[in-house]
Amino acid sequence: MTHHTGSIPDTHRATDWRDNSACSQRGVDPDVFHATEADHAALREARAVCAGCPTRVACLTSAYQEHDEWGIRAGLTPRQRKIILKKADRNITRAVADALGDPTVLLKNLYWQHTQQAGRHRVWTDHRDWVNVRGKPFTVNQLAWRAIHGFAPEGHVVRTCEVDKCVADACLADDVTRKQATA
Ligand code: SF4
Ligand SMILES: [Zn+2]
Repeated sequence: MTHHTGSIPDTHRATDWRDNSACSQRGVDPDVFHATEADHAALREARAVCAGCPTRVACLTSAYQEHDEWGIRAGLTPRQRKIILKKADRNITRAVADALGDPTVLLKNLYWQHTQQAGRHRVWTDHRDWVNVRGKPFTVNQLAWRAIHGFAPEGHVVRTCEVDKCVADACLADDVTRKQATA
């Protein structure tokens, strides 16, 4: 396993998001992630790497959770992260969604907050049938799908089990998974 040498704190877990991060790949200069705001060339280089990184949400979330005051994370300097967090009323989930323009992190949070495991199923416990996130309405099934998969479903999302309000991963299907199931 290549271990990250840049700004991301090392851990002893066998595998985690850091292993897939763009900055842990060969050929990336770890020093650019410690650039000061005055070092425009290094900043630009770090941001270019972060822009294509598949683990930006996890990276930025952990930067906030671990109070990283040094490194460039998800293309943002510590000062920029602070400003975003303040604007988001110190709510880390909102700050990450704001910074990355990605509501998935908010949907994930809602999903885990408002569901409960019930054997092999996972049941929506909130009274709402749909939820407004960033001015966009999501049905509970759509919300769950996006929270679980990180991308939008194809067509309708339907429950395939008999448990009322179940939104478990295995019990939801969109048009594509339904077609695959009947193929
Ligand atoms: S977002 Fe940037 S700093 Fe964070 S893991 Fe990805 S490449 Fe590294
Ligand atoms: Zn179910």
